[in-house]
Formats: sequence, structure tokens, C-alpha cells
Amino acid sequence: MIDNEPNLHGIGMTSARTRERMISRLQEKGITSPRILDLMRMTPRHFFIDEALAHQAYDDNALPIGHGQTISQPWVVARMTELLIENGVPSKILEIGTGCGYQTSVLAALGADIYSVERIRPLLDQARKRLSALGYARVQLKHADGGFGWTAEAPFQGILAACGRPDIPDELLQQLADGGRLVMPLGEREQQHLTVVDRVGNDFNVTKLDAVRFVPFQRGILK
Ligand code: SAH
Repeated sequence: MIDNEPNLHGIGMTSARTRERMISRLQEKGITSPRILDLMRMTPRHFFIDEALAHQAYDDNALPIGHGQTISQPWVVARMTELLIENGVPSKILEIGTGCGYQTSVLAALGADIYSVERIRPLLDQARKRLSALGYARVQLKHADGGFGWTAEAPFQGILAACGRPDIPDELLQQLADGGRLVMPLGEREQQHLTVVDRVGNDFNVTKLDAVRFVPFQRGILK
């Protein structure tokens, strides 16, 4: 729960009405779970973006966050979260691509232990400040290439990647717990689909879902 949400430039974009408009839009686009809608309602998206763009915070669009990256569209965050918790909230979740920390804070509000990896150092540093200002103590952040997962903390009941590539890194499949679920955009840049992988023993059942467009899942780290 957010119990110490900072009261930032509090007019307009933070109003209940503005946030409620985003919730209606999510419902029109097929997000029906009351739990997901509540999570989206309570997460202060304006807090994760540049002040100059804050008036667009509750529009259903991706927005630039610097370093060529974007904050995910609210529908995408809602949909990925919905898929990740479809069979129950995973107790331990690995997120690849912290970015500004928005999706991280939605996941943290589920009450799970969150391990989030970002390859661009300045984005991670800023996300760390924002998440700690919001009081999320159970989020662990690491500056690393998420293509290798987070070996020391594996296995994870849930893995979510916010960046797309044509194949699923083997390391991530290996770090997925038996009975766990991975959600990521899969495919070439123009042809990505949200994809769910359910692990049952050593079988990986792959389901291809909505067409989406994410920033690329890249190799290596940036200082
Ligand atoms: N979760 C963010 C989305 C950020 S965009 C949100 O809530 O809005 C995706 C992020 O993935 C970018 O910040 C990008 O730098 C990061 N990324 C891309 N490839 C990565 C990799 N191999 N390891 C870790 N992060 C990666």
C-alpha cells in the first residue's frame, strides 16, 4: 500500500477524475479484474515521468523517460500484470527493464517480493529514488543485463520483461520455478506479441496473445 504518497504538483493530473478516466479507458480495452483496476487506480503514474509530461500521465500512451526508453502504456502494464497473476500472485517476481519504475510499483503493490533489473544506470538510480519515496521496501533493484536473469535469487514464480526480442533467453526459462509463469513481448520489432510461458516440470507451454510494441531487449549494460 502507498501510505506516504508525495503530494506532487497536485492539480489536475493527480485528481481522482483524471485517474478515473484512465480506468474507464482500461475497462473499454478489456481489463475487467477489480484487483488490477484498483492497482492501476492507486499507482501515481505522474510521479514516474518528467514534470513537463505529467499532464499526459493518465492518458493511455507510452511516454519518453530519456535514454531512448519509454514508460509503458497503462493498458500494457495492466494486461501484463493481469496475465502474471492469473493463477495467483507469484510470491517472488523478477522484472527485466525497471525503466522509470512504474510497472515495478504496480507489482510491488501486489505484496510480492520484487527483483527488478535495469541495464541503464541513470534510469535505475532514478527509479530507486522514486520507489523508496513511495515506501516500497520489498523491491530489490540491480544494474545488470536482465538477459542473465538474477541467478542468486532464482527460482522466481513470476518473470516479467518490459522489453522485446525474438527469442526467450534460456537463463530466464531456467530461473522460472516449476508452476511459474513468464510474461514478455516476443518477436521482431514490428511483429511483437505478448507471450505467456507456463512451466510444468521441464515443459514450457507457450501462448501467444496480444500484438504489442516494446523497446528492444538489449545486451550489456550502460553506465
Ligand atoms: N517497466 C517500465 C518500462 C521501461 S521500458 C515501465 O514501467 O514503464 C523497458 C526497459 O527495459 C528500458 O528501461 C530498457 O533500458 C530496459 N532493458 C532493455 N534491455 C534490457 C536488459 N537486457 N536488461 C535490463 N533492462 C533492459
